[in-house]
Amino acid sequence: MKTTRLFNFSAGPGTLPLSVLQVVQQHLVSLPGVGMSIMELSHRSSAFEEILGTAEANLRDLMKLPEHYRILFLHGGATLQFSMIPISFLRGTGSVAEYVVSGTWGQKALNEARREGDARVSWTGEKEGFTRAPLPSEINIGADAAYAHLTSNETIQGIQLQDLPLPGTTPMFCDMSSDFLSRAIDIERYALFYAGAQKNAGPAGVTVVVIREDLLERASTDIHTLLDYRVHVAHDSMYNTPPVFAIYVVMLVTQWLRDKIGGLENMGTINEQKSKMLYDVIDQSNGFYRGHARPDSRSRMNVTWHISDDTLATIFARQAQERELVNLNGHRSMGGFRASIYNAMPIQGVRALRDLMLDFQTQYSG
Ligand SMILES: *Cc1c(COP(=O)(O)O)cnc(C)c1O
Repeated sequence: MKTTRLFNFSAGPGTLPLSVLQVVQQHLVSLPGVGMSIMELSHRSSAFEEILGTAEANLRDLMKLPEHYRILFLHGGATLQFSMIPISFLRGTGSVAEYVVSGTWGQKALNEARREGDARVSWTGEKEGFTRAPLPSEINIGADAAYAHLTSNETIQGIQLQDLPLPGTTPMFCDMSSDFLSRAIDIERYALFYAGAQKNAGPAGVTVVVIREDLLERASTDIHTLLDYRVHVAHDSMYNTPPVFAIYVVMLVTQWLRDKIGGLENMGTINEQKSKMLYDVIDQSNGFYRGHARPDSRSRMNVTWHISDDTLATIFARQAQERELVNLNGHRSMGGFRASIYNAMPIQGVRALRDLMLDFQTQYSG
């Protein structure tokens, strides 16, 4: 049976590098030197210890992570971090948390913080329909804040934050789910950041959390065990059974990023090139394609646009399917189209989508 792989533009779980999937396939029944499947492997075994250690070392290496940051591999998705953060760092402080809301995910994070305590909106793009990122000068962070929370890439709207200033001494927390490992970043700006792996780092089931050690001393002590960052740090992410398979794939993806791509600077350049191919088509379409995000706020991971005419949009969707380009529908709250072009989307896939957009416009524009 021939294996057909479509170009999968899904926002998540997203496409994975083919070479990684092939290694997973080859070793699925029996890991070399181990004699059993990764899915059967005890998390207390030395073989898994090595996998976990390698995944962590790869991440440290890629991000050039300073010693005083810890890496955790947790359950519960990025969504559980929306709760764990305020539970740990707002509870009992009598202080406020500041939330920058540049799209749907930032709003969800804010909503969870409000269950826990006083959370303030430092900036929101809601009135403008989440079409842009804030300017650093627009973000209002009180000196009394326990922390400030950002979403570096709003997956649904396709809004990405570029440079942001350090908000004085306020610890900065960031949801990086959909642009984690997509570019080199200035780690020291963040006290804590996290990403559900299924966008850019692996399969669903594991969330990578990077936390600066000194934060742990400030965390509330009145917390259920599994929600306590200190417990996870003390047990090297193995307080309970970790998502063994997902961590294994993260190890392979980070290896691919380092060895095949050549690190985050290279990845950033490639992602800039890939996204530019699509934004150029939008910009040169005389309004046939209307980008959602303002040009200065565009995401290099999730490209969002509309086609004004509903009938044409339906035909476009069908033609995409015919060319084996799938999962291009915009989020149900947004309509239109969204191409998620994560790290593992090959340039051939982006080229195929660009060609479709160009051909379609030639065929159907006035
Ligand atoms: C997908 C996504 C989430 C939710 O992730 P889960 O792992 O499903 O909880 C949160 N934030 C952003 C930016 C996302 O893209």
